[in-house]
Amino acid sequence: MKDDILFGPEIDLRSTEYPLILFVGRSNVGKSSIIRLISGKKVRIGKKSGTTVIPIAIFMGSYWIIDMPGIGFSAKHSRSDSFKISKTVIDFIDRHKECAIYSFIIEDISSFPQIYLKLKSKNIEPISLLLFNYLRNFSKYTSIIMNKIDKLRKKERIEQLDFVSKVFGFERWVPRSHLIIPFSAKTKEGYYELKMLIDSFVNKKRKE
Ligand code: GDP
Repeated sequence: MKDDILFGPEIDLRSTEYPLILFVGRSNVGKSSIIRLISGKKVRIGKKSGTTVIPIAIFMGSYWIIDMPGIGFSAKHSRSDSFKISKTVIDFIDRHKECAIYSFIIEDISSFPQIYLKLKSKNIEPISLLLFNYLRNFSKYTSIIMNKIDKLRKKERIEQLDFVSKVFGFERWVPRSHLIIPFSAKTKEGYYELKMLIDSFVNKKRKE
């Protein structure tokens, strides 16, 4: 099983004894960069034809990384492709809801507040918030990785982290609470926190 990589909308891991660590997010938030950092594999980078729209499962020896296709509308995909991608993600989660799922939603903290305010003025919920509320029902744990923190000035960070925490229903940002994780795939900030969190999920599953 070592080094197994599975591709395709129909991936079925229902019989696995290992936890599934799910990564979901809009396109361009840095999901591939984060998965490459954790897995050491360059699966979706280079965007091999077809791989941008299907889930990818990477076996890591004691857990599976599930790399979901970039969700939501983007310039890269047509509207019907975007709906197909959303359906693939929901179908995957639905099929695996009896598994030990741990979810990470990835956002880009340098653009999220503006996007959120723009959508709010149109009464639209951002896709990350919809995903968060959906995934919480099926996952043993759901966190939000706020990637691209390197783009913010030190002074802006706490203010922005408090802002996004409130959007996701928390009172404020709490360091090391592991609910909103400031991260940078570029500088590796947050990498050890994320690795340790994944290890704790894997160890918990072993003890069960
Ligand atoms: P994906 O579409 O979500 O898989 O995003 P990619 O991993 O392909 O990254 C999209 C772009 O954001 C690329 O140009 C990356 O180099 C850049 N990027 C990813 N993570 C970071 C980060 O933490 N900081 C900065 N400044 N850029 C990043």
